[in-house]
Amino acid sequence: MKTEKRSLGAEIAEVVRQVTGNSGQTLPLHEPEFSGNEWAYVKECLDTGWVSSVGRFVERLENDLAAYTGSGYAVAVVNGTAALHIALLLSGVEPGEEVLIPSLTFVATANAVSYCQAVPHFVDVDRLTLGLDPIRLHDYLHEIGERRADKGLYNRKTGRRIRAVVPMHTFGHPVDMDALLDVCQQYGLEVVEDAAESLGSKYKGKHTGTFGRFGALSFNGNKVVTTGGGGAVLTQDKKLAEMAKHLTTTAKLPHAWVYKHDRIGYNYRMPNINAALGCAQLEKLPEFLARKRKLAEKYREGFKAVSGISFFSEPEHAESNYWLNAIILNEPDLQLRDEILQETNKHGFLTRPIWTPLHLLPMYADCPRMELTVTMELEGKVINLPSGPSIITREEL
Ligand SMILES: *Cc1c(COP(=O)(O)O)cnc(C)c1O
Repeated sequence: MKTEKRSLGAEIAEVVRQVTGNSGQTLPLHEPEFSGNEWAYVKECLDTGWVSSVGRFVERLENDLAAYTGSGYAVAVVNGTAALHIALLLSGVEPGEEVLIPSLTFVATANAVSYCQAVPHFVDVDRLTLGLDPIRLHDYLHEIGERRADKGLYNRKTGRRIRAVVPMHTFGHPVDMDALLDVCQQYGLEVVEDAAESLGSKYKGKHTGTFGRFGALSFNGNKVVTTGGGGAVLTQDKKLAEMAKHLTTTAKLPHAWVYKHDRIGYNYRMPNINAALGCAQLEKLPEFLARKRKLAEKYREGFKAVSGISFFSEPEHAESNYWLNAIILNEPDLQLRDEILQETNKHGFLTRPIWTPLHLLPMYADCPRMELTVTMELEGKVINLPSGPSIITREEL
């Protein structure tokens, strides 16, 4: 007698239910948790009136971030996109130049390039890291790149200078940075890391966002720690940190009352009340990371018995924050992917697909790009699972 086979979607929903111990309630993709000093610090802002652009928490958050990541300096800003924008500007990206970025990323990576009036140039990713593939990048630059007398690298097809590369550490999994830095050194390219998703992730023991000249963090509501909205620019260089601070505070020259600005600056400074939230969240980060690792471990175990998919684990040499857990279908199949999304969402598990590759969006359709085979394959394979820190309780550690 034939028994009706349960759909893959139903099987996956069942594993998520078992792993999360959740039945009935809606389980968001990444819900923030406020279980520490958030109330005390925010209340202090309200009690003292220091809610806006001046106050002790901004400086404390910057110091805490620098200490935690091992970056020399951190400059707190209004969001991760602003952090990327400033990092790109200060790494010398000029209008009309090209910046190499993955097509498989959140749209902010490309938007920040556009804000510099530069052109995103899309590069493919690696199946083992979900981030930029340094070997394919090397071969591609060999094919399309041309070194000119000014030492710059130019795109032979478009005639534009290629200034920088932005590796993005997808879902918190580090790019193979040693290999990438080799390529960038060989071709004279600046490195700005989009570490928006990878606070707490390390590559060979070193924190992501500290390999390039700049790194950008995000503290959006769905990231590992949140300030409501916020971000930070990381750099090892004191001068560059000072310039980032200057540029993000309207380029105002220090004076008790005179309004003098020496260039067109940006109002990108993080308000004190957001930084207060950030300081409290950062205190909890080690515990969040431990709980997120535990959740990843449970998902990995749970999905072992499910055929047709695999759970994505951190690459070799990496310690990932497992910002968003992901399962990968054995074969790309958009229809099956969507069925699984339907089925799991129906049960209240707010699973999500990976981003639509950016070269498919109307405003980026005409940008230069290499063959994006793996990007297109992953679009039809990747599903993110509920991953917030609260899913695992402290008692479960
Ligand atoms: C979240 C995110 C950003 C930008 O963050 P915001 O704080 O929302 O501006 C940039 N890049 C990637 C890959 C992200 O996931």
